[in-house]
Amino acid sequence: MAEFDVDLFVIGGGSGGVRAARIAAGHGARVMIAEEYRMGGTCVIRGCVPKKLMVYASHVHHEIEDAAGFGWSIPAATFDWPTLIANKDKEIARLEAAYTANVEKSGARIVKSRAVFEDPHTLRLASGEAVRAKYVLIATGGAPNHGVAIPGIEHVISSNEVFHLSALPRRIVIQGGGYIALEFACIFAGLGSDVTLIYRRDNVLRGFDEDVRAHVRAEMEKDGITILTGCTVDSIEKHGKEFTSHMSNGSSLASDQVMFAIGRHPNVANLGLEKAGVAINPGNGGIAVNGFSRTSVENIYAIGDVTHRTNLTPVAIREGHAFADTVFGKRPVQVDHAEIPTAVFCQPEVGTVGLTEAQARAQFSHVDIYKADFRPIKATMSGRDTRVLMKLLVDALTDRVVGCHIVGDGAAEMVQLVAIAVKMKATKADFDATMALHPTAAEELVTMRTPSARHVREAAE
Ligand code: FAD
Repeated sequence: MAEFDVDLFVIGGGSGGVRAARIAAGHGARVMIAEEYRMGGTCVIRGCVPKKLMVYASHVHHEIEDAAGFGWSIPAATFDWPTLIANKDKEIARLEAAYTANVEKSGARIVKSRAVFEDPHTLRLASGEAVRAKYVLIATGGAPNHGVAIPGIEHVISSNEVFHLSALPRRIVIQGGGYIALEFACIFAGLGSDVTLIYRRDNVLRGFDEDVRAHVRAEMEKDGITILTGCTVDSIEKHGKEFTSHMSNGSSLASDQVMFAIGRHPNVANLGLEKAGVAINPGNGGIAVNGFSRTSVENIYAIGDVTHRTNLTPVAIREGHAFADTVFGKRPVQVDHAEIPTAVFCQPEVGTVGLTEAQARAQFSHVDIYKADFRPIKATMSGRDTRVLMKLLVDALTDRVVGCHIVGDGAAEMVQLVAIAVKMKATKADFDATMALHPTAAEELVTMRTPSARHVREAAE
C-alpha cells in the first residue's frame, strides 16, 4: 500500500488552489482538492466577478444620463434589483460549474468539505475521514474584517453579504477607504442609492498616488457620494428596518444598510497549523513563505491571499501555477511580485502600475513627473462634469517609465497594456516614439512632451 493517499492535497478551491490542482494533475500528480463553500473561491463567488457585473449595471445610469447630449431621449428608466441579482447568480453558478468541470477534467479529485491539519501529512475532512498527502498546499484565501466589536456590529454587512441583499438600499453607509469600499460606493450610487462613505484617515485609497487619491475623491463627490474622512462609525442602532450609525464626530446617520469594507485577514484560524508546525508571518498575519511559496514545513506550501502578500486573483493564480511547476513539473519558478498592475473599479475607474510619485522620489534621485488632467471628449457633448487624470513617472537618469496612473473611463484596460511596456523597462523615449491613436484618451500617454515637474533629491534628503 502506498504511504500516501495523494501526492498533493490542496486546501481551498479558489483562484490559486484550482490553478495549482489542475497544473499539478497535469504533471501527473494524484491530487485532491477540498473546498468548504463553493468552487471558484472569493474571486468567482463573492469578489471580482460578481462585483464587475454589478459595476457594469451601475454604469448604465451614466450612459442614460449622457444620452441626451447625443440626441437621444430615453423615457424615465427603472432599475430592478432582483433581476440584476438573479442574473448575476445565474452567471456565478455557470462559472462555478465550469471551475468544477475543469478541475475534474484535469484528473484532480474534488471533496466538498472543510479540511484541517492533523499533522504535516494528514488532513482531516468534516466527515472524519483522514487523508495522507505527500505535499499540502494551503490556499484558503482571506475573509472580511469587521474591526473592533462596536455596539451593533451584528447589523453590519460585509462584501460577503452585499451580493445577496433582498432589495437595493435607498440609503447606505459604507465604512472603509480601500478599493472594495470605493467600488461598492460607486455601484450603489450608480444604481440610485444615497451613499455616504466614512473613512478614518485623511483620504481614500491609502497607498495609491496622491494625485490619484485626490482626483478620485473629487470625482466621486461630484457624482453625489458623501465622503466623510477622519471619522469612524462607533455604534449602530436598529429601529425596525432602519439603522442609525453614530459617528466619532458626534453626528448620526440613518440608512437602510451599513456595510464595512475595512480590510481582509488571511484565513489561518482553526486550520490546525500548530499541529503541522506551519509558522505565521508576524509582519502581516499571513502564512510565512519563501520565494517558492514554501512554508516553514518542508512539504507544505501556501499561496494566494492566505499569505497576505499581494491579494489579487492573477497573483494567486500565478503563485499556484509556479508552485505546481516547482514541485511537480521539475521547473523551479519564483513569482515576480514587482510592477503588478491593479485597478479600482470605481467611477471613474483607476488603473495603476509601478511606483507612486512618493515611492519614485524615495527610490530615484531625479524624477520627472508628466501629468495631464483633461476633460474627455465624450463629456464635451454629454455635459458631464468629469475629468481624466494621467500621470507618468520617469527616472530622469535612465529615462525609464517607473509608474503610470490613470483615472478615467477604461483606465484598467489601458493600464493592463501599459504594464507590458513598464515591465519591459520602456523609456519615456519609447513612449514618445509610439504614434498616437486618435481620438482616444490613451493617446495622452504618448503625447505628454514636457514634464510638469522634476524632482531632484537634495544631497541631505
Ligand atoms: P480564495 O479565492 O479566497 O479561495 C479560498 C477558498 O478556500 C475559498 O473558496 C474558501 O471557501 C476555501 N477554504 C478556506 N478554508 C478552507 C478549509 N479549511 N477547507 C476547505 N476549504 C477552505 N482581485 C482582483 O485581482 N481583482 C478584483 O477586481 C478583485 N475584486 C475583489 C472584490 C471583492 C469584494 C473581494 C472580496 C476580493 C476581490 N479581489 C480582487 C481579490 C481576489 O478575490 C482574491 O485575491 C483571490 O480570490 C485570492 O484567491 P485565493 O485562491 O488565495 O483564495
